[in-house]
Amino acid sequence: MSKIVDVKFSLKTYEYFKPFHITGSVSSESRNVEVELVLESGVRGFGEASPSFRVNGERVESILALEHFVREMLLGQDVKNYRRIFDMTDRLFAFPSLKAALQFAVLDALAEEVGLEVCHLLGGAKEEIETDKTVGIDTIENRVEEAIGIFREGFRVIKIKVGENLREDIEAMAEIYRVTKGAEYIVDANMGYTPKEAVEFARKVYQMGIDVAVYEQPVRREDIEGLKYVRFHSPFPVAADESARTKYDVMRLVKEEAVDYVNIKLMKSGISDALAIVEIAKSGGLKLMIGCMGESSLGINQSVHFALGTGAFEFHDLDSHLMMKEGSFRGKFVQDGPKMRVRSR
Ligand SMILES: [Mg+2]
Repeated sequence: MSKIVDVKFSLKTYEYFKPFHITGSVSSESRNVEVELVLESGVRGFGEASPSFRVNGERVESILALEHFVREMLLGQDVKNYRRIFDMTDRLFAFPSLKAALQFAVLDALAEEVGLEVCHLLGGAKEEIETDKTVGIDTIENRVEEAIGIFREGFRVIKIKVGENLREDIEAMAEIYRVTKGAEYIVDANMGYTPKEAVEFARKVYQMGIDVAVYEQPVRREDIEGLKYVRFHSPFPVAADESARTKYDVMRLVKEEAVDYVNIKLMKSGISDALAIVEIAKSGGLKLMIGCMGESSLGINQSVHFALGTGAFEFHDLDSHLMMKEGSFRGKFVQDGPKMRVRSR
């Protein structure tokens, strides 16, 4: 009864409350592909692909064109044998967000079929996680106002986007720190700095008495030497995001001792590589955070269950759905301010 009898793709567009500005990119909406799997039993499983052209070279148009091909590939497959389906969908390495959506939809359908939650299929390590919320690039005044709002909403980890203007970034950090004392900060430059600029930012911020919990992707993705330089010349733990898309990328980062953290995103790696990265990180002494692209609550659901199931993450940056207009909440979890919990059945 757990064989796949249909696969459907649909395009969904979600508008952001405010255009989301990071180094080199401003988005006013997110365009995602929703995947629905139907089993013989009538049970349905859902997944969402939120492609990032900037990070993965993927677009919704290229994903939608694969609908027929994917249906042919998956029809008749049994979701109980999900590792077989993971191996088949691993071949979609040029479409990692689609791979994530399909692999999650398989787990979602299986979980529904057997009456469990996906986080329990993945290990059930945690009952609850807590997300940060992000301040995009803007005028210093607007960044400070946004940070105050986030802090007042109860978020204790604030993510701050930097990387386009070193002087303004340092000033923004100082001002945000002044009004959000007690918060923890994740700073993300999205590849915007040179290694020297990245070290200057970190040292100036440190001199002002500010602690940064994670300093994400300060330099270009290809510049592994640069990441390592920042890691050994700045006082804060350095994370790879754009530099860490597959398990092979993470193997290299471990070998080169280039970072302290890896930011896993299902949209870069799918479930299969994300599971492998968790094990590589454990063996290689790396810490982990989990992030997102432009997922709605349906897509964020995937990462919430992955994080609850594996329990592998120090920080959770799962806030894209909180930044967009959505008709209804579609996560199979409970969102309570920054807290995300297992749904009780
Ligand atoms: Mg990032």
